[in-house]
Amino acid sequence: MTKFSDLNLDPKVLKAIEETGYETPTPIQAGAIPPALEGKDVLGIAQTGTGKTASFTLPMITLLGRGRARARMPRSLVLAPTRELAAQVAENFDVYAKYTKLTKALLIGGVSFAEQDKLIDKGVDVLIATPGRLLDHFERGKLLLTGVQVMVVDEADRMLDMGFIPDIERIFQLTPFTRQTLFFSATMPPEIERLTNTFLHNPVKVEVARQATASETITQGLVQFKPSRRDRTASEKRAMLRALIERDGADCRNAIIFCNRKVDVDIVAKSLKKHGLNAEPIHGDLDQAHRTRTLDGFRDGSIRFLVASDVAARGLDIPNVSHVFNFDVPNHSEDYVHRIGRTGRAGRDGTAYMIATPADDKSVAAIENLVEQEIPRIEAPALPQSESRSRRRSSAPAESVAEEQSPADTQRTERASRPRRSERARGGERKSDGRVVGMGDHVPDFILRSFS
Ligand code: AMP
Repeated sequence: MTKFSDLNLDPKVLKAIEETGYETPTPIQAGAIPPALEGKDVLGIAQTGTGKTASFTLPMITLLGRGRARARMPRSLVLAPTRELAAQVAENFDVYAKYTKLTKALLIGGVSFAEQDKLIDKGVDVLIATPGRLLDHFERGKLLLTGVQVMVVDEADRMLDMGFIPDIERIFQLTPFTRQTLFFSATMPPEIERLTNTFLHNPVKVEVARQATASETITQGLVQFKPSRRDRTASEKRAMLRALIERDGADCRNAIIFCNRKVDVDIVAKSLKKHGLNAEPIHGDLDQAHRTRTLDGFRDGSIRFLVASDVAARGLDIPNVSHVFNFDVPNHSEDYVHRIGRTGRAGRDGTAYMIATPADDKSVAAIENLVEQEIPRIEAPALPQSESRSRRRSSAPAESVAEEQSPADTQRTERASRPRRSERARGGERKSDGRVVGMGDHVPDFILRSFS
């Protein structure tokens, strides 16, 4: 088996790796590091959780070991699709480059221009950026990309989803033709294939197994249920989610819960909180400081449930997540692979549940087709008392959390709103504030008969 010491990495990098406790290179590292160190272009087909960040950071640091940064001309460039991912690459860089004198700057939204400008003016070895922010700096004349020797594109397929491909093409064109490119993508849709054919020179292709197919450490389960009414789908899914969490008890140490839409991220988080569960939402509409705070809280265990959209959670390295819940079946099958890959990392056990209704049948089939396996069907847990009762009563739609009730609330309002017999006989209904509305005393006979 390949050892890190076989890989020709700078001894300073090896020392830092030793301190992280990594024993052997992961397959993407063993495959990508040697050609990268030889100066070749690399096309890495791998997703997060495979150790891909180190597979480009370690050779980059080694290659930059010689030479010095020049003002406003970074020597290497890492492009990542989201701020969180860029920040994560920067953290990795700090760990692996700790025994070198290399410098870096991070160009992402939410971090002040002035501070980063100062760093770039002085000269940095590594510039880590999201594409839009990088082009902003370039257009303000603060940056020259003609000194870039190594360019990394991370999570290219996500860049495609986010509409960044024209920006990436532009950035490629602003860097020297002689640069070395290390290009990573979890999948290779045609647009990405075209991009690599245009901008990479005879790349060495390194492909590692998709995580979903290689993830023996993830126990998957599909809960299928039929909502009592279409307009109750969301509230019954929320009850199903709580029932699943409750059923796994202490085994569900923490979890990421995925929703397809930002609005549902907020509703589900609010609903869990209302039921006494410690949950916070994370999605692109929340400001950067808020997102960072939430992520830190989830990492340090002070937040147990992170309710997330795909974009916000993509690529985040949060070790030790015991459960992933697909509150919604993802619209893109590949997102299923990314989502469940948040658990079962680095050989640990993980559980991934997905809640599906008959309306999701097609999407479930597409996912199973992609991962080439049937997701085991698991028995739906019994819904909490209040929920099954309201299913029987088939009460008014409760799609918003404001209308959703905790079990105690439900009992209270049920008692209060149940009309007394005499009132019922008059076709009346007792409102929660005690008022009775109905037809008063003048009830036609045929209605009275129907109540008896
Ligand atoms: P990544 O795919 O880059 O997001 O990395 C996923 C996780 O694997 C991170 O927490 C890394 O710290 C960890 N990791 C990276 N390389 C190794 C390795 N060779 N051995 C063990 N863990 C690693």
